[in-house]
Amino acid sequence: MSNAPPAQIPTSFGHELRACLRCRLVKTYDQFRENGCENCPFFSMENDNERVVEGTTPNFSGYDSLKLSYLQQLVNTC
Ligand SMILES: [Zn+2]
Repeated sequence: MSNAPPAQIPTSFGHELRACLRCRLVKTYDQFRENGCENCPFFSMENDNERVVEGTTPNFSGYDSLKLSYLQQLVNTC
């Protein structure tokens, strides 16, 4: 407990796409961290990387690749 360094936010998360566990909204990790989930404001993900990790998933098992690429285009035009 004495000399533990402060936890650092991993920058490698950068442009990782994630889906909200509740509403399945897909955005980048950065977008979730900056704006949270518009449909689930009670998650309070803004500026809290742990809540983003807990409230979203990088696994899109519910999406087929066509829909995912469409969503990625949406993200890129934002
Ligand atoms: Zn959501």
